[in-house]
Amino acid sequence: MDLHLEMSDSEARIHVRASLVMRGASFRFALASPLRLEAVRCGGRELPLPDGEDYRMPPLPTELTAYTLPGRPGAELEFEYSGALSGPLLYYRREVRNFTLHNCWYPVAFDAEAEPVDVTLPDDGDWELVQGERDAAGGLWRYTTRGRTIRDCNILLLRRGEWTRLESGGVSVLYCEPSHAAAAEEAAHLCSDIRGFYRSLYGHDGELRELTVVYLPEGPDRAAYMRDGLIVFMYIPGDIRHILAHELGHAHACRADFGSWEDWLNETGAEWSALLYERRADPEGFERRLQKLLSQAEGRSLRLRPEDGSHPDDVHETGTLVFARIYEEHGEEAIALLLRTLDGLERQDTAGLLSALRERGAVCLAEELETYISE
Ligand SMILES: [Zn+2]
Repeated sequence: MDLHLEMSDSEARIHVRASLVMRGASFRFALASPLRLEAVRCGGRELPLPDGEDYRMPPLPTELTAYTLPGRPGAELEFEYSGALSGPLLYYRREVRNFTLHNCWYPVAFDAEAEPVDVTLPDDGDWELVQGERDAAGGLWRYTTRGRTIRDCNILLLRRGEWTRLESGGVSVLYCEPSHAAAAEEAAHLCSDIRGFYRSLYGHDGELRELTVVYLPEGPDRAAYMRDGLIVFMYIPGDIRHILAHELGHAHACRADFGSWEDWLNETGAEWSALLYERRADPEGFERRLQKLLSQAEGRSLRLRPEDGSHPDDVHETGTLVFARIYEEHGEEAIALLLRTLDGLERQDTAGLLSALRERGAVCLAEELETYISE
């Protein structure tokens, strides 16, 4: 799906022109309710505007309207909509504009879910689009959800000349408020230290993933969010070291299928990379975290794979608890071995991890891990 996005200068209003080649006989999607469909064309022919129905997509608080547009497979469908941006974590200020899935500014859910999205927006030279690509000849910024684990059309525009960028070992930290300078310095320093630790743990730099950390000016929500290679803070968190360590840990644990139960490998790999870093950086803090995990592991199921192989909500947590048990029993070396073996897999999946562990002679560890899979 191609989207061309235009923004109003003064108020948080957008106009979007969407086009796609239809896969089925209709195309169903939802949009934030304040956005209104203005035109629909199929195969170049104007269609009447459909009525929408109220729709909710928990846990997003944004009120949505669902639409079904008729057509036929292979036909080109075009539609336009415009209106005010709404919902949480929205920034539309002089120095920054940020709107994302939280604001449902682009077609979401139903048939839209299966569509990779390529966004263009005019480049008037005033803004930098974070994780965007500049098309100088076309006078455009381009943003794509292709190749992203989190397929959000995350529009984060920073006004040129307002932002300070600190670079350190593949990490860029951006901030615009002078009072955030110390936190930004700390993040830049932490990222190099964490990367140094991971280099010693894993013996290499992992996926060549650039990381951008952005401190937005304080907004209406004390929140932070993460996307592939991007962390955005809307406040200065107390736990920044752990958050950064987890994200950077994904450089070694991000290739398992995130749409299925195998996602436990991504999150457990990143989280335990972070925990081993904490163990070195703050042994007492690590011990507190470990005790908490072990008590959480008491009296609950630690089954990693649901019967249908689907992606359960607690899949991230469960793997972290399983590794806490393994740490408790076998110590740090066992966890390091698990992490390195996972990192070394061409294709990261549980079956591959188990057989690679056996090849390395870690038969007991493989057997123990196996007991949690369908416990
Ligand atoms: Zn993660």
